[in-house]
Amino acid sequence: MDRLAEFAPVTDAMVPRIARVVRRVRDLPDTVTLELVSADGQPLMRYAPGQFTMMYVFGVGEIPVSISGDASDTTRLVQTVRAVGKVSEAVTRLSAGDTLGLRGPYGTAWPVAEGYGRDVVVVAGGLGLAPLRPALYQLRAERKQFGKVVLLYGTRRPEEILFRRQLETWRRQLDMEIEVTVDHANTDWRGNVGVVTKLIPRLGVDATNATALVCGPEIMMRYAASALHDIGMPEETIHLSLERNMKCAVGLCGHCQFAGSFICKDGAVMRYDRVRRLLGLKEI
Ligand SMILES: Cc1cc2nc3c(=O)[nH]c(=O)nc-3n(C[C@H](O)[C@H](O)[C@H](O)COP(=O)(O)OP(=O)(O)OC[C@H]3O[C@@H](n4cnc5c(N)ncnc54)[C@H](O)[C@@H]3O)c2cc1C
Repeated sequence: MDRLAEFAPVTDAMVPRIARVVRRVRDLPDTVTLELVSADGQPLMRYAPGQFTMMYVFGVGEIPVSISGDASDTTRLVQTVRAVGKVSEAVTRLSAGDTLGLRGPYGTAWPVAEGYGRDVVVVAGGLGLAPLRPALYQLRAERKQFGKVVLLYGTRRPEEILFRRQLETWRRQLDMEIEVTVDHANTDWRGNVGVVTKLIPRLGVDATNATALVCGPEIMMRYAASALHDIGMPEETIHLSLERNMKCAVGLCGHCQFAGSFICKDGAVMRYDRVRRLLGLKEI
């Protein structure tokens, strides 16, 4: 009996809840944000900023997707998806009223509270802003707890800026310093040009008393973490969110194994000092 009971939580963890799309916003030509509620009317899930779910489009497949909403809003779950292949394309085609399967939340959280009494630097690249947005909501809600709060955000082109209106609103409210940079400017662009890491040397934070949260393409995270370390931030105060293909999300299948860790359980948010030597390696 006891031996059988051992397996019960795993079975449950593999069974998706049924969620319903209540709102769909097209952020970019290939990216949509879905707002989801539970089809049974119960609260869908509570989560911490940085966690992800497994989204299952019936008959198509299941993918890991970070939560991009405000964790204090328990009425709906918000997730932002870019269409890159079979399942993510199917997710972006869902519209209000459609249902999908949802497992989770899974993974580790952004250590936002570690930033109490310190400066906080958030570095996002491209779609990496989506997994960081729950941390930004928390930073704003608890603004008095932190010193200087800076968001550095880089995209390839001005038209690929995610959550553009929200960033403009937040910038006007002066809660945090927001610097946006693009790799390739157009004639209308008046902002920074160049990779996001170029903004790091002129950050103006107290590097010895700061916490950094970094999410984006792995190569960008590698350079960003190294640049943050170069301005004096200890490696253990820099946190990255890693992506590897995964299937079960509960540490069983081994698809997301990362040396001695599993990204699904020990990540996706991990400390730089623990992953620095492994970054950039596809298979370990
Ligand atoms: C913890 C975690 C959080 C994620 N959060 C988000 C999110 O918030 N929004 C979002 O749009 N996507 C997110 N992803 C990536 C998303 O899971 C992949 O885009 C998706 O699995 C691709 O599946 P597909 O069937 O659409 O494409 P496939 O047909 O499987 O692949 C299409 C292309 O994408 C590449 N690819 C597939 N999976 C991944 C992956 N996990 N990482 C990098 N490249 C991959 C393939 O090599 C291929 O080139 C996250 C992934 C992880 C592991």
